[in-house]
Amino acid sequence: MSVVENLNAIKNTLPLHVCLVAVSKTQTKEKIIEAYRAGQKIFGENYVQELCDKVKELPNDIEWHFIGHLQSNKVKYIVPFVSLIHGVDSFKLLKEINKQSFKNNKISKCLLQIHIASEETKFGLDETELMQLLNSSELSELKNIELCGLMGMASNTSNTEQVKKEFSNLNFLFEKIKSEYKIPNLNFETLSMGMSGDYKLAIEHGSNMVRIGSIIFGARN
Ligand SMILES: *Cc1c(COP(=O)(O)O)cnc(C)c1O
Repeated sequence: MSVVENLNAIKNTLPLHVCLVAVSKTQTKEKIIEAYRAGQKIFGENYVQELCDKVKELPNDIEWHFIGHLQSNKVKYIVPFVSLIHGVDSFKLLKEINKQSFKNNKISKCLLQIHIASEETKFGLDETELMQLLNSSELSELKNIELCGLMGMASNTSNTEQVKKEFSNLNFLFEKIKSEYKIPNLNFETLSMGMSGDYKLAIEHGSNMVRIGSIIFGARN
């Protein structure tokens, strides 16, 4: 199957309220263009250098999402053009994004990454750290940040009960913050969860943004 066939097959199964981020890390510009010509405008990348290289050579109406682990010292390279940063996992990072966004005269949309998987290796805030961040009096001073929701990655396991539990925990947190927290720069509308292997389960548990790579573009090298 071609990129376009894969993309259309997935799109046909997505409910209308679910946004598809085509994860193009390590994929060639040619493959990205194929998806773009078929109507896909949102792409997700994990590596700063790779993203900066691709941006220069690809159409400028692509909406780039940064979905990887972001280091504070690299924020300045991507803030000028990214439309959503999925992996914010510390106050320090948020402050740096705010600073660079101010310099660029923009408000950066961000998602807070929550650690929901049982694996220790995955990044993200735990619930206590999340609450500390949201309760911090400094948060409303970050005027160049818009917190748009949460992002999480479930455990890489065939145990679907486990994955369901992780997604529904994240959904619960999302809904709770959305209804209980009234902070000026908080505008919770996006719950980013679900990848190639688990996006259907994620949608069943409240996801409205899925990040899908390998079943569109093929396996990565
Ligand atoms: C690579 C990646 C994806 C896409 O993974 P696939 O299994 O190829 O769909 C989604 N989210 C994040 C954060 C990733 O790093």
